[in-house]
Amino acid sequence: MERVTKFVSGVTRFSIEFLFPSACPLCDAPVSVDGELCADCWTSFNWIGRPCCVRCGYPFPADLDLGTRPLCPKCASGETSLDFIRSACVYDDVSRLAMLPFKHGGRIRYASFMSRAMMWALRDIDVQPDIILPVPLAYRRLFHRGYNQAALLARPIARAYGVTMDLDCVRREYRPDMGHKSAPQRAENIRGVFRVIHPDAVRGRRILLVDDVMTTGATFSELSRVLRNAGATAVYGVTFCRAARAI
Ligand SMILES: [Zn+2]
Ligand SMILES: [Zn+2]
Repeated sequence: MERVTKFVSGVTRFSIEFLFPSACPLCDAPVSVDGELCADCWTSFNWIGRPCCVRCGYPFPADLDLGTRPLCPKCASGETSLDFIRSACVYDDVSRLAMLPFKHGGRIRYASFMSRAMMWALRDIDVQPDIILPVPLAYRRLFHRGYNQAALLARPIARAYGVTMDLDCVRREYRPDMGHKSAPQRAENIRGVFRVIHPDAVRGRRILLVDDVMTTGATFSELSRVLRNAGATAVYGVTFCRAARAI
């Protein structure tokens, strides 16, 4: 009976794949793995490899030799408060085209390839977080959007690490959009926006923050400050893409 069930489910799966082959989430070209990008879309992204800053993942030019543990100027001067940050790709015209419909247009299926790319960005990091914390959305924003895009990315990452995703330990107060503000303005605007609701979930824990994009890093820095004040022993961060302007 078990064999028959297996055979039937195999035939069904084959029929479904034959009738509806897996498609690239961005351009609908056929792909062999469901949710994965086609080769053309994959190569159009500016993926961040080595060399990059060992602390914040800032990408360096490929021919730049900065030794075995390169640090960007920001990390070298001690400005980065997180223990490490990694991002899968650079925030540019290509990643923006994927990011906008994912964040504002309901294309939540993009979370599959994005979270896989984020796990790839974390491949060199030999650290086991205790909890995965998606950067919280203010309730008003969550109500309008219907979903927290960071949580969609965090869920498969938490599954891969075998730890829980915590959606409730921190609350975010609503503030108007930061738009195109400068780094100091962003830092000022985000100050005091997060509040730890369940300190027991944070105290003594190593926390991996997950977000879709990192621009100035102000959100991560502020969240890290609040979590450390609540007793977190380490705070890490991972995003799908990051701004990589001259620093
Ligand atoms: Zn494609
Ligand atoms: Zn750095």
